[in-house]
Amino acid sequence: MPRTGRGKMGALAQSWIASLDRNTRLRLRRTALASLDYLLTGIILLGFAWIGTIPFRVPVILLTVGIIINSVFLTAIASGFSRRWRDPAMTATQVMAACATNVAGLLLAPQLAHLFIVLLFMPLSYASLHFSTRMYLATWYYLSITLGLAIAAVGDLVDVAPLKSLPEQLLFWLVAVVALGRFLSISAAVSRLRTDLKSKNEELQSASDKLTVLASRDELTGLWNRREFMRLLQDEARRAARSQTSFCVAIIDIDHFKEVNDKYGHLVGDAVLHEFGQMLEFSRRATDSLGRYGGEEFTLLLQGARLSTATVALERTRNLIAQHDWSEIAPGLDLTISAGIGAWHPGDTLTAVINRADAALYEAKRAGRNCVRTVAR
Ligand code: GH3
Ligand code: MG
Ligand code: MG
Repeated sequence: MPRTGRGKMGALAQSWIASLDRNTRLRLRRTALASLDYLLTGIILLGFAWIGTIPFRVPVILLTVGIIINSVFLTAIASGFSRRWRDPAMTATQVMAACATNVAGLLLAPQLAHLFIVLLFMPLSYASLHFSTRMYLATWYYLSITLGLAIAAVGDLVDVAPLKSLPEQLLFWLVAVVALGRFLSISAAVSRLRTDLKSKNEELQSASDKLTVLASRDELTGLWNRREFMRLLQDEARRAARSQTSFCVAIIDIDHFKEVNDKYGHLVGDAVLHEFGQMLEFSRRATDSLGRYGGEEFTLLLQGARLSTATVALERTRNLIAQHDWSEIAPGLDLTISAGIGAWHPGDTLTAVINRADAALYEAKRAGRNCVRTVAR
């Protein structure tokens, strides 16, 4: 029974941890590690109490304080309460609390003054994760003052050199302050490096995202380029084969486009291609994909369409283009398109479908242009 009870609790705890977001999990892990530091210190101090170096109340007080402080931190982080603060990991507060506990230990058990100063480095190692220069300076200042006061308070109680006389206390304090300052400054530098690395990573990621877009889009029209269109076509063929559906590919070619260039110039030709691409893009169905195949030829993937529905869609596009007013780009310009549609059947290669669309386009041109033709098989 206890075994299954514990198993259940473990499973519950695991599913609860899995439900937390990644940042909260990391913060909880770090705080749990810090709690472990308190526990270890408490156990070591219990050892000292056991052999009679210090009274038992010292580890008892410090352990109790540690349990209370860490419960507060763990609860604030796990409940999401700490997210409303600027530092949801509460690193500075945790470091300060741990330092204060060590200084309290120094006051309670002056025999172990050196040990508590060494122990200060444990919480301070967390500073390297998040401390800014300002936080490092503030921590150093806070520690210098509290350590100075603590050393002055316990100095003449301690039976070990070099804390007996005031000059000894001052020199001891100075050594501790210099060592802590150096440690904290290195921590702050590591923290800066970490921040730099993080922002460099973000820059790299966004550059790589931009490259991905550049590599898949046509520069002039912003539509999918030929390579990306072929990739989409591959995906569609796999999907259609799995779901036993069909699709069509249309090749759309602007009629006598060479004349547009000859009459208005290449730049106007480019503007016409851009506008043309936009019109096709806005008139396509959301599930269809549009690409620029090259030059004045465009390709449309009509998902799940049969030849009959694809023809209706392409006729609509043909009318849209023929009736469009192009005078803003090129006064007196009339534009028509010819389109050829090929259907995909299970077992077909992509080349077969494209060849069908190509043959249909050739038919449309032969029939006098400004029309849509299909090739079934
Ligand atoms: P058809 O009706 O038989 O299709 O005649 P067409 O003139 O449209 O076909 P052709 O293949 O003879 O000419 C295509 C023209 O498209 C020639 C080329 O200069 C032009 N073209 C291709 N790419 C671009 C481009 O990016 N910008 C511009 N301005 N023109 C382009
Ligand atoms: Mg053409
Ligand atoms: Mg052409």
